[in-house]
Amino acid sequence: MFSFFKKKAQLPKCGRLIRYIPKHDGFGRVLYGEFIFAKEDIQNELIKKLENNPHLFDGHEGAIFNWIGNSDESINEVTDVPEIWNRFIYIADELIHQGLCISCICSVCHNKLPLDSLINDDDNELKNGWNSNKLFCNNGHLLLRAETTHIILSDYQRGKA
Ligand SMILES: [Zn+2]
Repeated sequence: MFSFFKKKAQLPKCGRLIRYIPKHDGFGRVLYGEFIFAKEDIQNELIKKLENNPHLFDGHEGAIFNWIGNSDESINEVTDVPEIWNRFIYIADELIHQGLCISCICSVCHNKLPLDSLINDDDNELKNGWNSNKLFCNNGHLLLRAETTHIILSDYQRGKA
């Protein structure tokens, strides 16, 4: 129990602006995006998510919700999302799809990218293996990749039987 509280105390307090630098996806592939979100947008998204999926309270989503709720409005610098919460990638993906991203930088191009210049490539038609939502800068650098569903098709379904 003690180590849990100790770990919690080490988290930086967040302000109004939250920066997310995913660095890599669930499979270790390098990601180049740096995103800034407003605290309120993350909070609203989490309220929706947690209302629909209350079990997520016990995981990263619940922890992030508490962290955001405990913010200090007087902090003007951006606060980075602690790396331990790798499921933040889903919140980021959702907010970007809704156009709720204050700033996006590609760390390869070093450019601040307007949201409407980003290229979305979502797997909408389910395919065998991992399906994901991918986001690229207009020079083709992978900024964000959120795995959505894992599909295992049998040989019969793949038309090989
Ligand atoms: Zn780029």
